[in-house]
Amino acid sequence: MVVASIDIQGGKVVQLKQGADLVLQRDNVQALACEFDKYGEIAVIDLDAAMGKGDNAALIRAVLPLGECRAGGGVRTVDDAARLVEWGAKKVIIGSTAFRAGGGFCVNHAFLEKVARRIGRERVVVAVDAREGEIVVDGWKTRTGLPLIETAHIVAPLAGELLFTSVENEGMMRGTDMDAVRLLKEAVKQEKDPATLLTVAGGVSAIEEIRAIAEAGADVQLGMALYTGKIALGEAFVESLNWKKCGGMIPVIIQEAKDGQVLMTGYADREAVRETFVRGNVCLHSRTRDALWMKGANSGQTLRLRRLRADCDRDALLAVAEASAGVCHTGAWSCFATEKGLRKESRRTPSASPYLNARAASLTPYVPGEQPRDKACIKLNTNENPYPPPPSVIEAARKAASETLRLYPDPACTELRGAVAARYGLQPENVFAGNGSDEVLAFAFAAFFESKTKSESPAHEEQPVLFPDVSYSFYPVYAALWDVSCETVPLRDDFTLDAAGYLRQNGGVIFPNPNAPTGLALGKTDVTRIIEYQHCIGKVVIVDEAYIDFAAPGLSAVDLVETYPNLLIVRTLSKSAALAGLRVGFALGNEALIDGLCRVRDSFNSYPVDRIAQAAALAAIGEAAYYDTLVRRIIQTRERVSAELAQSGWTVLPSSANFIFIKHKTLPGTTVFQRLRENGILVRHFDRPRIADYLRVTIGSDEETDRFLAIARAAKFP
Ligand code: PMP
Repeated sequence: MVVASIDIQGGKVVQLKQGADLVLQRDNVQALACEFDKYGEIAVIDLDAAMGKGDNAALIRAVLPLGECRAGGGVRTVDDAARLVEWGAKKVIIGSTAFRAGGGFCVNHAFLEKVARRIGRERVVVAVDAREGEIVVDGWKTRTGLPLIETAHIVAPLAGELLFTSVENEGMMRGTDMDAVRLLKEAVKQEKDPATLLTVAGGVSAIEEIRAIAEAGADVQLGMALYTGKIALGEAFVESLNWKKCGGMIPVIIQEAKDGQVLMTGYADREAVRETFVRGNVCLHSRTRDALWMKGANSGQTLRLRRLRADCDRDALLAVAEASAGVCHTGAWSCFATEKGLRKESRRTPSASPYLNARAASLTPYVPGEQPRDKACIKLNTNENPYPPPPSVIEAARKAASETLRLYPDPACTELRGAVAARYGLQPENVFAGNGSDEVLAFAFAAFFESKTKSESPAHEEQPVLFPDVSYSFYPVYAALWDVSCETVPLRDDFTLDAAGYLRQNGGVIFPNPNAPTGLALGKTDVTRIIEYQHCIGKVVIVDEAYIDFAAPGLSAVDLVETYPNLLIVRTLSKSAALAGLRVGFALGNEALIDGLCRVRDSFNSYPVDRIAQAAALAAIGEAAYYDTLVRRIIQTRERVSAELAQSGWTVLPSSANFIFIKHKTLPGTTVFQRLRENGILVRHFDRPRIADYLRVTIGSDEETDRFLAIARAAKFP
């Protein structure tokens, strides 16, 4: 493999001679990363951080998601390393810190072991920078007295890869120290552990050297020779392959960039690989005609190259490309399947109608909390408000239930949006109203998160939308409905949300604050951190604030809407406003995001909020004082029930919502759920990993709460 260097200093890409003299400088970091990604991995180094003169963190964060990057420069702590991985680095390069311990110079076993435990040994690259056979650190200024080969031998089992820089040659382009390379290759051979890889940097200046390094079984990293045009990456790539082993003809697997479908296989010789890079379209060698085969030259069925990669022993290629049309000569989309897209194993449930299309049959719908017919039961299962909405709201709904119902409602909900905007200090253009916040969320998934089959730009390629592993269970349902790939980020052991888990390459982020069903709130600093990061990588973050009115004042991210064009806040009138039956929810965000929601709505149903709902919701917005009283009362009850349950030995998470998340001392969640039910109390139980022993209990009226408490506190649980 050929690794291209991107050394960053003062916000620019630079090349230094001997680690000191600036030779050249470029501004276009992102464009370089996208270009280099076609050929191999990219080494992104923060020279300022390495030299202890500030850092280029924001820029590094923006670059790492753009290619398969290894990052380094100034990695001093395990957290530094973990942060780079979170930002999208495939590997982390560790220099000076690997060789400093106990006030002197030696291999820092403890540190490297800790890093390996945190990010995985295979991600750890230890930089062995050597001058005349001696390891040097601190930007090559400090000699360590550590001999290169012996030290490499010791450090190899602690790393997935060593990066050898011959300092006297770096930036000089006067050739590689091949003897050192061979000795190092011997030194990194592992008997028990998986192989430690070796990459050679520093002074590589000729194609023949790349061939020799490849033959020695090492990868090569290019800096100065690349930027000065002395070596072209395409040419370096060709020479890094093991042509000898495959008799001059290397097999190529061609994979669709958008969905990972394998399209075809073929063979390439040196010429075909070169032409692939030159034309930007996959070229092969036709064995039938024994000639260069420029795929699509006649048929127009081209394969636009995204990236080319060699396999582990450099005798097979993977071409990731975008197919302009079906690729097979039979007219099929691929040589292995007639249809476009990855074939999913059918998840059709046995009872599903044979008339359902594949998408509908494969859905696993959300299961809402039960709405029992038995009026006598105490309903603490769907987070409804136990108190009624104010009389003015009921009156407004009554008035709207008039002969005007023959007319469609205002599709834009103009008056309602105006009132909501005024309430939050925003403009009506910053507000969207929908049929419950569930609908707003569904529209948001459709508008802002890329569907697997639709992604066109490299930035969207297979990047999953992130949300907590324990969260609102409608999110994965929307993701499946719109074919959005998603990934869950584990909450910490105490169920708090770990903001750092979201600071990595992704296709968007959504989380409730406070979270459901845990009720735990994420602090404003962490919320802002996530929004800021998403802003940096150009992705949307949705903060679902369904329960925010029950949390501490000042937690809402609504004041960040004007600062962050990528922030969408979703609110509902179902909880604090006691209007779950009305079905009204909002989104607050930048005008362009709101416009995105309108596009989806108007492709689906132009009138989701009916006349009665608009009128009653408008009245509700004007009743802030009434609702403040209701919310205060619910919070008081919540604190009381939480304290009493905790005293009786239940685990109670500290809630910022209108429900609590609790666990009995000994009994499994299903048993407690059943027993409460037998006693006429309906709560919510999620039979899901990590939370199967927990119950979510809505805060009811004081009377309802007392009945619930009486049963829950009973010395011997009935
Ligand atoms: N978000 C979260 C986190 C929720 O718990 C709920 C209620 N199930 C909603 C959104 C949806 O609320 P609604 O559709 O009633 O506005």
